[in-house]
Amino acid sequence: MRAVLLGAPGAGKGTQSKILCERFGMAHIATGDLFRAEIGKKSPLGLKVQDYVQKGMLVPDSVVIELVASKLDASAQGWLLDGFPRTHEQAQALDKWLEQNGQKIDAVVLLSMKEDVVVRRLTSRRTCGGCGAVFNLDTRPPREEGKCDACGAALTQRNDDTEATVRKRLMVFNDLTAPLISYYKHAHDFYDVDGGRSPEAVTKELEGILGAAVKGA
Ligand code: ADP
Ligand code: ZN
Repeated sequence: MRAVLLGAPGAGKGTQSKILCERFGMAHIATGDLFRAEIGKKSPLGLKVQDYVQKGMLVPDSVVIELVASKLDASAQGWLLDGFPRTHEQAQALDKWLEQNGQKIDAVVLLSMKEDVVVRRLTSRRTCGGCGAVFNLDTRPPREEGKCDACGAALTQRNDDTEATVRKRLMVFNDLTAPLISYYKHAHDFYDVDGGRSPEAVTKELEGILGAAVKGA
């Protein structure tokens, strides 16, 4: 199974991807998670990208493409791309990789979401520093304030989840990534899923779509 999950920041890509990858045994290739891990380690790649990520700007295409290509090469079991491609150039690089490897994308899914909902969701999002579990102060609060239900580690706010940076990320999405939707709509098996419902309802629909794509392949 090879799939791409498109959607604005806060549409629920990360939450859904984690569940789907466990269910279908694909590698979860989430560029934002990969960059945050490198930034945390203060690796050369982390130092190179941290300013972009913190400000809500895109990391340069060449850097992202090199990273994703190495992950695709290492994921023969199939993959779900979460947060990539985000620009026309990245989409072209992905096409080139597919062509060179004689592979195709089984499904492209857009998680759609209204902008005002996104801002509220992201500014109330909290992430576990230990296991990466995601909580939301409004809709999915932890049992104990500031502590992960799963592993007990402290919850933190991503430093790009402040209101000003969220708005910046939305602008970048609308300018650079939204135009990819029409490209994928025409070239691939494309599904538009309403991300504004409960996470469980969204998961159910996504499992149905990917399940059918597996059978059809
Ligand atoms: P979200 O989708 O919620 O904005 P991500 O975790 O996917 O969050 O991405 C966080 C940040 O990482 C982005 O704002 C950007 O700086 C960087 N990033 C992630 N994926 C890409 C990409 N494909 N191209 C360029 N920058 C990226
Ligand atoms: Zn945890």
